[in-house]
Amino acid sequence: MYDTNNIFAKILREEIPCQKIAEGKHFLSFYDISPKAKIHALVIPTGPYINVHDFVTRASVDAQIGFWQGFRETLAILQLDEQGYRLVMNIGVHGRQEVLHMHVHILGGNDTGPMVLK
Ligand code: 5GP
Repeated sequence: MYDTNNIFAKILREEIPCQKIAEGKHFLSFYDISPKAKIHALVIPTGPYINVHDFVTRASVDAQIGFWQGFRETLAILQLDEQGYRLVMNIGVHGRQEVLHMHVHILGGNDTGPMVLK
């Protein structure tokens, strides 16, 4: 069940501030408050979806296309195409998802290191 009081829902309602990168009808992108790379951005859908499964199941085709267009727009602003970046989605307990509103992390601006599995 989606919790309307999660932090990203509050950011969408402008109840708490964020350092905005871009926004549209179906997405909002902003910088992570606790960056894990030189550039660490988050892209979220404007609708109430817990994770990508929820999003793909319930969001309209327009909302899904709009979200990924927003992702593309954000990447263009961040200018990460040439050097590349890491795209991360943390989902559920094993994924250590902290904020239960779907989001993708864009990490770049430096070598993000190997993907480490314990
Ligand atoms: P998750 O672990 O859910 O994939 O990642 C949630 C991310 O949200 C974390 O990287 C965390 O630093 C970021 N975050 C948590 N609270 C805030 C906030 O109030 N503002 C911003 N910009 N990012 C936040």
